[in-house]
Formats: sequence, C-alpha cells, structure tokens
Amino acid sequence: MDNDCIFCKIINGELPAAKVYEDEEILAFNDIHPKASTHLLVIPKKHVASLNELSTADNGLISRMILLLLMLAEQQGLAGYRVIVNNGPGSGQVVFHLHFHILGGAVIPKF
Ligand code: AMP
Ligand code: ZN
Repeated sequence: MDNDCIFCKIINGELPAAKVYEDEEILAFNDIHPKASTHLLVIPKKHVASLNELSTADNGLISRMILLLLMLAEQQGLAGYRVIVNNGPGSGQVVFHLHFHILGGAVIPKF
C-alpha cells in the first residue's frame, strides 16, 4: 500500500471504481477515460510500481493476471483485443501502480 497511489486508494475503497473482477490478489475495473469501447485496467492488489519492480517471487501473480486478461476479454465478448503495459516515465505511464490495459472494440483515438 502506497498512501499517495490512486490505484491503492481504489483497492482499499477510498476512491470509487467500476469494478468488473476482484479476488484476494487482483482487481479489474473500467478505465475512467476509455480509449476504446471496452477499456479495462487489471492491477495487482499489492503495490508494484511497474514491471521493473517484479521478481521471480511474482511468477504466480503474473501468470494469474495474464490468464485473467483472457478470461475478461472473453467475458466482455471481445473478438480481439490489445494488452498494453506502459512501463516507466518515458513510456507514457502516469499511474505508478502496475496495470495491464485491455482495449477492445471500437478505438476512440489512437492509443
Ligand atoms: P498509464 O498511462 O498506463 O499510467 O494509464 C493510467 C490509466 O489510468 C489512464 O488510462 C487513466 O485514464 C486511468 N485512470 C486514472 N485514474 C483513474 C481512476 N480513478 N479510475 C479509473 N481509471 C483511472
Ligand atoms: Zn498502488
């Protein structure tokens, strides 16, 4: 938990989110500024700033997150979709709590 992190605040209920999936380790919710007709964010509940902070101790978590992406895409009825992870300040990452974007359906602007 990072007190200044908006995604940690969503996890602990301080900020609202339109949740689509939750378990002990992972949360998925709609992006507040969608870039496609379906735009979900999938995050670990533990605060990890980016992919750079992962280690082999996170193998199980990461593989469960990847499998959840597939499950959510199917649940949302997406025929195809993109998974994007911005990683570090030079990438366009603005929220420094690891998140997988799932984008599917009609794209609003180019992401
Ligand atoms: P990134 O540029 O990869 O760090 O993406 C951060 C994403 O978080 C953006 O697509 C934002 O629209 C989204 N976002 C920021 N605040 C919220 C929020 N309170 N609820 C849902 N999505 C958010
Ligand atoms: Zn966080």
